[in-house]
Amino acid sequence: MTEFTLTEDFPKSEIEFDQRFLNESACFDYLFKMKWPTGFSCTQCGHQAYWVSSKNIFICTRCEHQHSLTAGTIMDSSKKPIMYWFKAMWWFTSRKSGVNTINLKDLLGFGSYNTVWYWLQKLRRCTIRKDREKLSGNVEVDEFFIGGQKPGKRGRGSNGKTAVAAAVEKKSQKIGRIRLKVIPDCSANTLLPFISANIEPGSDVSTDGWKGYEPLDENTYRHHKVFQNKADDKDSVLPGVHLVASLVKRVILGTHQGRFDPGYLQNYLDEYVFRFNRRTSNFIGKKFMRIVQQAISSTKITWRQIKVNTTLTPSQESSLGLSA
Ligand SMILES: [Zn+2]
Repeated sequence: MTEFTLTEDFPKSEIEFDQRFLNESACFDYLFKMKWPTGFSCTQCGHQAYWVSSKNIFICTRCEHQHSLTAGTIMDSSKKPIMYWFKAMWWFTSRKSGVNTINLKDLLGFGSYNTVWYWLQKLRRCTIRKDREKLSGNVEVDEFFIGGQKPGKRGRGSNGKTAVAAAVEKKSQKIGRIRLKVIPDCSANTLLPFISANIEPGSDVSTDGWKGYEPLDENTYRHHKVFQNKADDKDSVLPGVHLVASLVKRVILGTHQGRFDPGYLQNYLDEYVFRFNRRTSNFIGKKFMRIVQQAISSTKITWRQIKVNTTLTPSQESSLGLSA
């Protein structure tokens, strides 16, 4: 059997990035390689010859079907040159803690805060691969709360707090990959689907004694219930998931000075997971490559879909150039 791997092609440094993506066609070449790693193939007729229009549309020489590399993706109908998207993706991925809206606005030289905010929300949505592998082996699961003044309760009504389910792989004393999800409550109806969506069957799942984990299917997982010895020593049990919870809270609350809109929390958690799961990567450009791959297969997101709690009118949206 012949085994082959696609060469992973990404810039190794910022200098290399700047030298490589100097113009539109260099960026489109890269998108082309991401979309057709083994060469062009017409989506309509399978033909392998094409020509490129001046607008970087790839046209099949047989059936003349037009292939746009950005249509239908997060970059669709953007009036900015593609180099700006590339640079935004570079800064988004190459900086250790990411980049906030104000910094990115300055870096790109954009006039509109809203445009940059929108771009960042779109990029955050590209951090999660739909077919990503589930966690496996020893996995700790717990929930924690973000926001609000008082400690959260696992029952209903948690005083303006947002509950987050967390799953953390433990490899001896080290932490492996993680998953985070905003959840409406801490009931079994919420927690069990979170576990089955994120953890491979056959894994060892450690939880505390919360009743929400009680009905976990013993035929699918080996369920370990751990109990803390002293009431004040919660880190003695499930140390991995508690460490992750405190790191996440520090980053989210630090970035937003304690105030954030729960409607966007999942996007920030997705970005956090993306960085965390790649924290040991040796190459600065590898995360950039992943985001480009995701962007090319992403679906178009409208301002309204992102701005779930929007108070903007359609005419305000169109004046911002954000309606779709
Ligand atoms: Zn064709």
